[in-house]
Amino acid sequence: MKKNKHVITGLLLLLSMAVVISGCSPKEGDSKQKAVIEKVYHWKMVTTWPKNFPGLGTGANNLASLIDKMSGGRIKVKVYGAKELVPAFEVFDAVSRGTAEMGHGAAYYWKGKNEAIQFFSTIPFGLTADEMNGWLYHGGGLKLWREVYAQYNLVPAAAGNTGVQMGGWFNREIKSLADIKGLKMRIPGLGGEVFKRAGGTPVNLPGGELYTALQTGALDATEWVGPYNDLAFGFYKVAKYYYYPGWHEPGTTLEAIINKKAFDALPADLQEIVLAACKIVNQDMLAEYMARNNAALETLINEHHVQLRAFPDDVLKELRRISDEVVEELANKDDTAKRIYASLKKYREQVTAWDEISERAFLRARTIK
Ligand code: CA
Repeated sequence: MKKNKHVITGLLLLLSMAVVISGCSPKEGDSKQKAVIEKVYHWKMVTTWPKNFPGLGTGANNLASLIDKMSGGRIKVKVYGAKELVPAFEVFDAVSRGTAEMGHGAAYYWKGKNEAIQFFSTIPFGLTADEMNGWLYHGGGLKLWREVYAQYNLVPAAAGNTGVQMGGWFNREIKSLADIKGLKMRIPGLGGEVFKRAGGTPVNLPGGELYTALQTGALDATEWVGPYNDLAFGFYKVAKYYYYPGWHEPGTTLEAIINKKAFDALPADLQEIVLAACKIVNQDMLAEYMARNNAALETLINEHHVQLRAFPDDVLKELRRISDEVVEELANKDDTAKRIYASLKKYREQVTAWDEISERAFLRARTIK
């Protein structure tokens, strides 16, 4: 009897402990919050670059890895090279419809959607990388970019920059405008249109086909990016002259695009983390191009004896005149283009005045003999 009483007391004690424990369990709200914190988002990032392509593809890889680390593993991003999930030029549509949550490419690839979108990558005689970042982050550019992309269910972010590109590889010298006449050059986009009006024959070919096209004479010239990427393609073996500056791409901004629904579904801290990671990659890629271009240029000149040439001033002046014409035409296509160009043009005028007495004056001062 006494033993049974002990058993019953023990059971009652266990029961009361269970009540105490259940009373201590998190409230419903807390457990919901806990579930949100532990949720892991699995995203796909489709890109317009060959997987791991130096600078561009590796930049996309860095972005994915930063988002993972900065979020403490709460967002896992799997990167796909061009053609792995969708072809390069379908990245915009794939992210827009949610096939992938994220994409990495350049805005000028999507001019078929809306020609005004090109302003967010680069335009001939437009902005340098630093100037572009100033316009985007503090000059109203990013606000306009978000407004335009919202129509396509996308959130855009600057996520890389090549810096000033090179003018390209030529198998004959350009001493005057007459030398451009009939020249077959791979030069896409607005730069290609300018080149055409200057008398040349612009061609658009993917990067992988350029070497052979130069070698067989199907092309007389090609532009690609700058010394770092151009050295990797080996153009110095099939073209003699390397021209500067890259008037057609003075500081090409690369973009990350995020499906708006996927972005809106993230808690506020993760949204900030994704955007901050884009900003880091935007700066880091430019730093990488700066460091590697300068080392690659040295290799091209000293080891491969590349003939470096500057475009003559009168050629540049004429290309600039035509560029303004082409860009003004683009700006007059619709109200969106007009608003974006008005913002960019005003900023370019101001920043040009400042650059004269800052960057340009200093760079000149550093080399006065
Ligand atoms: Ca280029």
